[in-house]
Amino acid sequence: MALIGIDLGGTKIQAVALDGTEVVADARSRTPVQGGPLAVVDAIGQLVAKVAGEVAPEAVGVGAPGVVDPSTGTVVRAPNLRGWVEPFTLGPALADALGGVPVAVDNDVNVGLLAEHRSGAAAGTDDVLGVFVGTGVGGALILDGELRHGPRGGAGEIGHVVVVRNGRRCGCGQRGHLEAYAGRAAMERRARALDERGRQTVLVELATARRMTSSVFSRALAAGDAVAVRLIEDAVAALATAIASAAVLLDISLVVVGGGLADRLGPKFVRRVEQAAAGELFLPDASLRVVPAALGDLGGAIGAALVAGQAAGR
Ligand SMILES: [Zn+2]
Repeated sequence: MALIGIDLGGTKIQAVALDGTEVVADARSRTPVQGGPLAVVDAIGQLVAKVAGEVAPEAVGVGAPGVVDPSTGTVVRAPNLRGWVEPFTLGPALADALGGVPVAVDNDVNVGLLAEHRSGAAAGTDDVLGVFVGTGVGGALILDGELRHGPRGGAGEIGHVVVVRNGRRCGCGQRGHLEAYAGRAAMERRARALDERGRQTVLVELATARRMTSSVFSRALAAGDAVAVRLIEDAVAALATAIASAAVLLDISLVVVGGGLADRLGPKFVRRVEQAAAGELFLPDASLRVVPAALGDLGGAIGAALVAGQAAGR
């Protein structure tokens, strides 16, 4: 029997069926924009049926964005999911919809790092920090081979550590957090503000009225656009400072950097972060490797299937 993993995102839902460590089926659909949590439960149910085929799944795991309580399968807060205005017990609701199949739920970044730890860029390492640079900046921590959640589920949230005292406003309301410098949404706000003040940038032209996607940043950078170059320099510096601080505090020697923006900007971007972080370490002989995530788009769903395996007692 297969384990099913679901990566629940703000725009799409990705599903995989895992046999051992091998992906034997995958499918995706758009995240319903109407109907809130119940519509999402329906959509996940359809995807599970699609990837499981004729056999009943052994267990289902879901990686959900936002604040998740894995002990109860509750999505406590999910600002990126439309219509999710209060805590929702996704695990029990989905288990009901699937006729009693065990369901485990964890944060999407946590499961993404779990997958990298089991079969990706962090395989064979006991201690690793994961930094996922996309719309925001997510973080996760594996210590002594186990995901570290923390009593309030906030362990590893590196996007909200201060890198500039009294610095730029973060999406969470505080100032100077890493996400305010390295998250794609924050960089877009900054680019549009600079453009309005007369610092013309192709970022705004390429994005037009739509979102400034990761590929827009990548193209502007390739064209040598001064604002894009500066924003990416700031992002690299902020990431390096936060990562070096975390590495010193936890004595870790491996950091995996993934997420939509980091994937798009590629290994060169991650190498720049590694080089900048190396200059900020405490112990002169400390070696810190900062490497790109290896599993790409399916990483989150694979990690969710691994969580399902733990729930099924494997
Ligand atoms: Zn913040």
